[in-house]
Amino acid sequence: MVFARRAAPRAAFSPTVAPLKILFVSPEVEPFVKVGGLADMVGSLPKTLAALGHDVRVVFPAYGGLRLDSSWRARPEPLGVDVGTSAHWARTWESVLPDSRVPVYALEHEGLFGRPEVYAGPWGNHADNDLRFAFLCRGALNLCLQLGWIPDVAHAHDWTTGLLPVLLNTTLRHTPLGGVASVFTVHNMEHQGYADRRVLDFAHIPPSEFRPDSTESGGAVNQLKAGLYHATKLTTVSPTYAEEIKTPAGGHGLDAVLRFRSADLVGILNGIDAAVWNPAMDRFLPRPYDQRSLVVGKRAAKLALQERLGLDADPHIAVFGVVSRFAAQKGLDLVAEALPHILDRMHVQFAFLGAGDPGLEQTFRWAAENYPGRVGVHVGYDNALAHLIQGGSDFFLMPSRAEPCGLTQMYAMRYGTTPLVRATGGLIDTVAQYVEGKGEGTGFRFHDATAPALYNTVGWACATYYDRPDELQAMRLRGMDRDFSWGPNARRFEELYGWAVAARRAAG
Ligand code: ADP
Repeated sequence: MVFARRAAPRAAFSPTVAPLKILFVSPEVEPFVKVGGLADMVGSLPKTLAALGHDVRVVFPAYGGLRLDSSWRARPEPLGVDVGTSAHWARTWESVLPDSRVPVYALEHEGLFGRPEVYAGPWGNHADNDLRFAFLCRGALNLCLQLGWIPDVAHAHDWTTGLLPVLLNTTLRHTPLGGVASVFTVHNMEHQGYADRRVLDFAHIPPSEFRPDSTESGGAVNQLKAGLYHATKLTTVSPTYAEEIKTPAGGHGLDAVLRFRSADLVGILNGIDAAVWNPAMDRFLPRPYDQRSLVVGKRAAKLALQERLGLDADPHIAVFGVVSRFAAQKGLDLVAEALPHILDRMHVQFAFLGAGDPGLEQTFRWAAENYPGRVGVHVGYDNALAHLIQGGSDFFLMPSRAEPCGLTQMYAMRYGTTPLVRATGGLIDTVAQYVEGKGEGTGFRFHDATAPALYNTVGWACATYYDRPDELQAMRLRGMDRDFSWGPNARRFEELYGWAVAARRAAG
């Protein structure tokens, strides 16, 4: 059966290293399944690498909620996956990443992936997450064998794929996959995938790997640590976060491992999918805009946003937008604490989109009820609204306690929306501090993770909005001028893959 493939863009650059075969294995891939920024990266970097001339393929689980359009076809032969003690089979679905020729494969297994959620159901994390994602790792590698396609590099992401480099170094070392180099990207140190040691048996990893300089941590298997020890090269998603995680404060118990491996660890800033997040082509905006039409375009988007969230229609009021997981890491408890004080003293509106912590959801709903027309909340996941908030807000709030990279502040700048961020991780690398009267900066940064610090900075942003609109307009344009696309950073991955392949070969 022939299935639809859209024309791929022509190669934009010539490769700096010989074309490589690169396997991406991830629990999330935009636009098919997304929980956070990991999906954005895995949905966009492979396309840029393919445009550089590399043969890139992506494998992820076919969760129960995955919608398979007519571009997907089932591979005729079942995929045997070497896990557990009895035969395990998967059905493999195949398509391409949109607007590319990058093949994507979704592994279907009713028992492990039939549920719609990625990590957690209504009662918390799935108890068999260790087995589910071990299956993904082993299934992705078995698929390569079935396809007769042996990658040069396998690129794994976060704890869910931490056992993949272990498999390559141990169980599969003396197989046709034994020469495959691995790159392991940490998107977030806070999630480490602790599991019972049964997962090693399930994945056919030798019990001898249950030791502190491999997979063991505190008497359990730590899958993030396993990836950190075993991958040929390590990356994380911003240069500042690469430094932070080597400290006790940022390492979440694994800083010593990261210091041990620091020669192999590189911080490469995530790029954004500049075709998807482009205000000039955004179908979710009432009137797409570029730098020349910024004022009229944003005004239309602001009114549409106000209407969508039940805010008072007012083109002149300063609107602060939030699109985020509602989690302590994102510092939204600081917003919750400062919110009544801000609303009582400043002429502002807030637009919240997100879900997560029930306490935060309740607080923002409470604010919407008590400040009608000034606070709008949508609890849940809504891609169209995420785009509208980026276009229709004046400021984008991101007071994160920790932020490995953060994508939404980059989207905001692309949309001429000024970010207001806490100075941490990737937010330091992407948002330059505004300096009054100097024509410098792309946003507002604050240092202390406290509600008063946030309150003061919101006040500073408001004063700039109402008293120095020309300066704010110039800052918006500076933000729109920044190039956050993958271009240069995909080149850094290309270089890193080259080093990984050379190191793997040298290891024999
Ligand atoms: P993280 O990965 O820590 O959640 P990032 O800023 O790196 O944070 O990426 C978050 C991604 O998820 C962005 O693309 C953002 O637009 C999207 N997102 C987060 N929450 C929602 C939501 N409720 N609805 C739609 N998109 C969301």
